[in-house]
Amino acid sequence: MTIAQRIEKIRQSLPSHVRLIAVSKQVSAAAIREAYQVGVRDFGESRLQEVIPKQEQLKDLPDICWHFIGHLQANKAKKVLEHFQWLHSVDNLTLAQRLDRLATEMNISPQVCLQVKILSDPNKYGWETSQLLQDLPALAQFQQLKIQGLMTILPLGLSESEKLVAFNKTNELSQNINQRSHLSLTELSMGMSNDYLLAIRAGATMIRLGTILFGERQSI
Ligand SMILES: *Cc1c(COP(=O)(O)O)cnc(C)c1O
Repeated sequence: MTIAQRIEKIRQSLPSHVRLIAVSKQVSAAAIREAYQVGVRDFGESRLQEVIPKQEQLKDLPDICWHFIGHLQANKAKKVLEHFQWLHSVDNLTLAQRLDRLATEMNISPQVCLQVKILSDPNKYGWETSQLLQDLPALAQFQQLKIQGLMTILPLGLSESEKLVAFNKTNELSQNINQRSHLSLTELSMGMSNDYLLAIRAGATMIRLGTILFGERQSI
């Protein structure tokens, strides 16, 4: 199957409220263009040095919305804000404050998801639930950052039922946050190629699919 055919097939199976983010890390600009031609506008990337040349090659497609999904280092925050409209991987208060300050200087309003670690996992970044609840008053004060929802990546090795429980917990956390703070979270960025159907069952509004659309990643 071609990329276009894979996209069409997946898309037909998605409820209309679910936004498909095509994860194009380690995927060529030509493949991104193929996805664009069948209507994909949201692309997810995790490395600045990789996205910058691709954006240059694709600058004739101005309505692409770029989503940053990789680990966000504080010293790259400004550049990330210059190249992405959505940041899914904001994972601590200090970073969020820095982004808000930079966004004020740059006079932009980036869309943000807070990355949460719903199950403890030494290999993953993200807020621990208890820390996130403590940080809510500070997070609710931002002027420029538009905090839209939560993002999670599950640890490897879970069963289907454990995955569903973890995605449901993320959804419950988001509702809990809405009740106890001035944030109003509407997005749940969760689900990758091997677990997106479970994520949708648990209320995902944004799914981040790479392999299932573009095939196994190669180094380019
Ligand atoms: C790579 C990546 C994806 C896509 O993973 P696939 O398994 O290829 O669908 C989604 N989210 C994040 C944060 C990623 O790093």
